[in-house]
Amino acid sequence: MRVVLLGPPGAGKGTQAQIIAGKLGVPAISTGDIFRANVSGRTELGQQAKTYMDAGDLVPDEITVAMVRDRLAEPDAEVGFLLDGFPRTIAQAEQLRESLAELGTGLDRVLELVVEEEELVRRLSGRRMLVDGKMVQREDDKPETVRHRLEVHREQTAPLSDFYEAEGLLVTIGAVGSVEEVTARAMAALGRA
Ligand code: AMP
Repeated sequence: MRVVLLGPPGAGKGTQAQIIAGKLGVPAISTGDIFRANVSGRTELGQQAKTYMDAGDLVPDEITVAMVRDRLAEPDAEVGFLLDGFPRTIAQAEQLRESLAELGTGLDRVLELVVEEEELVRRLSGRRMLVDGKMVQREDDKPETVRHRLEVHREQTAPLSDFYEAEGLLVTIGAVGSVEEVTARAMAALGRA
């Protein structure tokens, strides 16, 4: 199954992506995780992406699209995939459609997680992640950056709902509740309950 997970920062995409991908038996591919691994590994891609990420801006499409195209051509993605954090612009969505067409395939479903903005701000400012045994705040989870990321999402990424609705691929679920409740809703929306 080939699935895109949509939703604003703080909607729980990362957590749900891991669980849902496990249940579907496909790899969860997170562009944010790939970028963060490249930043920690001090690769050239990481250097290119870091300034944008720290500011809460999107990494330019050329960089992101090429990275995803390479990742989707890897053997483990042949059975399917769950994309988390990509596409984030209409241009990326169009490129994705082309890349998949070249591989002779296409998306099966686009699952959107919906959470109201007040709740997102609350979740993001309290969020911590484990790095080298320590709980740290992501640079881009600082309050000023969070507000900017939500704005970027509203302007550049939210239009993807209409884009995928028009393709007849979009399913939407409320993403407030326990992790298990949201997973159950997601699996039902994907027709795998
Ligand atoms: P995430 O972990 O999905 O919240 O992504 C963290 C950051 O990585 C974003 O704020 C962007 O700077 C960058 N990023 C992740 N995915 C993309 C994408 N599809 N296009 C552009 N930038 C991205």
